[in-house]
Amino acid sequence: MLQNRQILLASRPFGEPKPENFRLATTEISDRPERGLLLKTLWLSVDPYMRGIMDEGDSYTPAVDIGGVMDGGTVSLVLSSRHADHKAGDLLVGYTGWQEYAHTDGEGLRKIDPKTAPISTALGLLGMPGMTAYTGLLNIGLPKSGETLVVAAASGAVGSAVGQIAKLKGCHVVGIAGGPEKTRYVVDELGFDTGLDHRAADFPARLKAACPKGIDIYFENVGGHVWEAVYPLLNDFARVPVCGQIANYSDTGLPPGPDRALALIGTILTKRWRMQGFIVSDFADQTDEFLRDVGGWLRQGKLKYKEDVVVGLENAPAAFMGQLKGRNFGKLLIKVADAPA
Ligand code: NDP
Repeated sequence: MLQNRQILLASRPFGEPKPENFRLATTEISDRPERGLLLKTLWLSVDPYMRGIMDEGDSYTPAVDIGGVMDGGTVSLVLSSRHADHKAGDLLVGYTGWQEYAHTDGEGLRKIDPKTAPISTALGLLGMPGMTAYTGLLNIGLPKSGETLVVAAASGAVGSAVGQIAKLKGCHVVGIAGGPEKTRYVVDELGFDTGLDHRAADFPARLKAACPKGIDIYFENVGGHVWEAVYPLLNDFARVPVCGQIANYSDTGLPPGPDRALALIGTILTKRWRMQGFIVSDFADQTDEFLRDVGGWLRQGKLKYKEDVVVGLENAPAAFMGQLKGRNFGKLLIKVADAPA
């Protein structure tokens, strides 16, 4: 038997998640499963959608039961296998949750090759967030050379890839991020044209100045006050891939003031905007193209990525709560165990 440390959902949050909503538990897991795979978690991905799975009722991902293991993407080492496609020593990416070991039948797991890229990238640029950026931008954003693209949460896993791919497509790219370090990074390291701090008092005016020809594509990652500043600047025929609304995930009701939904729909009509929500899994059939293109651009040095690594499974709840407040800088990952040499 192995001792398996797990992070469980202890209770459902009302508003922002708090430490008491999580519980660290240790259970025993057989080291000789009779079927399937025994996996050891090496890396755990921490992502904003996890706020939704803590609530009652399914969002686009199933809710976690109270007392259940928090769900999450992982890179794992196969310790033992009774599965035809995988052998001990293989490295797999999949969703095995916030725990140190897992038994699985192998469903939904993909083998990764540590020789092509660092294995943690299978949770970042070469994983779900990178695929979100690639598919949302190319299928819905439809970038054209010379257009202006704005993306928020610009230094994060999705936003950093959106802006860099848009640059490869010839766009003028404005990245919005929290604080001077992140805004400098998107310009100096990622090659965006402008980086703007959404916490600056004159942020809306700065955004307007940074987009003299208006905005053709807004890749919506955050909602909240950033959306309020962006939408007056959207051009006729603008495209808005609606990817995420992290600023609103912990809202417990509608904001005060009149309901402006009808006014927004009227503006969508007169300005002929195309706003489309999407979930990365909608484009699962584009996985091969994504890995070919983004993997190729990475190997050619045309794309960069940044990881924010927190060591130890027990630190995952604090890291996740910090992400919802913008404390991460880059793709947030938990290093659960060392990879084999
Ligand atoms: P990030 O690594 O970018 O982390 C989230 C960032 O959001 C924070 O670092 C912070 O950056 C920013 N943020 C948090 N709160 C606010 C706020 N109130 N106002 C403005 N910005 C805020 O996360 P990801 O790149 O993984 O995800 C980005 C978005 O994409 C999320 O909304 C996520 O839910 C969505 N997503 C959607 C998918 C889909 O299939 N539709 C799949 C994957 C992600 P800063 O300090 O710069 O403000």
